[in-house]
Amino acid sequence: MGLANFADTRQSPCEEFDVSRKLFAALALLFSLGLAQLVGGPVAAATASEPGAAQVRTLYYDSSGAAEFVSAVDAGARVWNESVSNVRLVKGQPASIIIRADNGWPRAYVQRLGQGTIYMGRQAVREGHDVIRIAAHELGHILGLPDRRTGLCRDLMSGASAGTSCKNPNPNAAEIAEVESNFGRNLRSAESYAGVFAEGGPARVSR
Ligand SMILES: [Zn+2]
Repeated sequence: MGLANFADTRQSPCEEFDVSRKLFAALALLFSLGLAQLVGGPVAAATASEPGAAQVRTLYYDSSGAAEFVSAVDAGARVWNESVSNVRLVKGQPASIIIRADNGWPRAYVQRLGQGTIYMGRQAVREGHDVIRIAAHELGHILGLPDRRTGLCRDLMSGASAGTSCKNPNPNAAEIAEVESNFGRNLRSAESYAGVFAEGGPARVSR
C-alpha cells in the first residue's frame, strides 16, 4: 500500500487498524534486536554466523604484563585449544583476559565467563609448582571452571592440592566437557559466572 492509498483510505477503521498492526510489528522487531544486543557482549563475538551452526568463540588474551610467564601462558592456552572446540584462546586484542605476574599466589578474578584478570603468582613457582599447569588452571577459571581441590593430579582444577610433583597441564574429560558446555549449549546460563579464585598451599585439599 502506497502513501496516496493510505491518505485516501485513512478514514476507514480497518485501514487504521492495519497500519497500527504494522507499527506494532516494527516496534516488536526493534525490541527483539535490542534484546539480542543486550544478551551479546564480549563472549558472544562469534566467528561463525550460519544459523544453527556451532559457534566457536574466540577469546583474546593480553600477556604483555606476564613477565617471565609469557611462554607458560601461551602453552596453557595451547593446552585448552587442543582440548576443546567451542572456544579458542588467542593472544591479541581486543583482550578480554589480562595476565599479569606478581609475587603472591596465583589467582583469577573472573568478571564473567571468558573475561577476567589472571595473576601468575611467583610464590607457587618458588615452591615448585609447574608453571604451565598453573597457567592452564587459571585459564580454566576464565573458561568457567571452579576450584576442586581433590588432591588428584589428573584433575587440572585440583590446582596446588595435587602437590608440586604434579606436572599435568591437561584438563580431564569432565573438565573438558564442562568447558564445551559452558561455551555451547549452556552458554546463556554460564555467562553470568563470576568469582575470585585464589590458590593456596598444597595442604588445602577438599573432596
Ligand atoms: Zn584455582
